[in-house]
Parts: sequence; structure tokens; C-alpha cells
Amino acid sequence: MSERDDHELRISKIQDGTVIDHIAGGHAPDVLAILGIDGSTDEVVSVGMNVPSDRLGHKDVVKIEGRELSQDEVDVISLIAPAASINIIREYGVAEKHRVERPAVVEGVLSCPNHDCITTDGEPVTSRFEVLDDGVRCAYCETILRENLTEHISV
Ligand SMILES: [Zn+2]
Repeated sequence: MSERDDHELRISKIQDGTVIDHIAGGHAPDVLAILGIDGSTDEVVSVGMNVPSDRLGHKDVVKIEGRELSQDEVDVISLIAPAASINIIREYGVAEKHRVERPAVVEGVLSCPNHDCITTDGEPVTSRFEVLDDGVRCAYCETILRENLTEHISV
């Protein structure tokens, strides 16, 4: 068994759940924020930070037991961790492996910082952001968000 296989095994050793690998070093807390994991839930979560990585230099790894991520969650993760790979684990094995892809739009997951925007005005309008190369743009008021996306997550 090569070292690489051994490493893959080590990170996938949960029975059922999701392993988010190849998060840029230091960004695991952002991923946890997106997923609403703040210590108040009883999910079993393991976080590896600044693990040596061939591809990224250092990477973070998040393992969540008993939970498979939704496509919406994966879409938002892609905005802050574009190199991430998502491994769905069933019965201790990798059942599905996805590289994240930046979606063209994200709906219902970010809230617009513009208080005059129709999406923040109490109207039943789902937020909708177009994904740009360096940020996201509100489809209603064209406000652009480039940084601190995690502060605008409304999932
Ligand atoms: Zn807006």
C-alpha cells in the first residue's frame, strides 16, 4: 500500500458521512460556518487544519459523521474553497467523490447586504447571486460581495 492510499484511508475512516478534503489551509472554520456547525449541534465533526498536502502545501480537512451534504451546501463551499473535494462515505468506504464546481448562480443561501434590496425587504423573494470570477453579484440590486461571504450566509 502506498503512502497516498494510507492517507486516503486515514481521512475516510468514518462509517457514514462526508469528508471535505483539500480546503485551503486555515479555511475549515469558514466551511463549518457555511454548514451551520458551531458547536451547538450534536453532530460528530473532526477538523484537521494545516495538514501537509502535495497539491496545496497545507490544507484543511473536515469530517462530518452521519450527514451527506446537499448540492446547495456544496455550491457555497465552492465559493470559499474552490479546490475542495467532497467525499460521501457510506459503510467506511468512499461512495461518491466530487470536486466542487463553482455554480453560475447560488439561490437562497446568501443574504444581500443592501438593506434596500427586495430580498431583504420582508418580501417573499429568494436571494439569488450570480457567481463572478472574484465574488458574487446580487441578481436584484447588483450589489457585489467579494470578501467575507461566510458572514452573509443565511442557510
Ligand atoms: Zn440585493
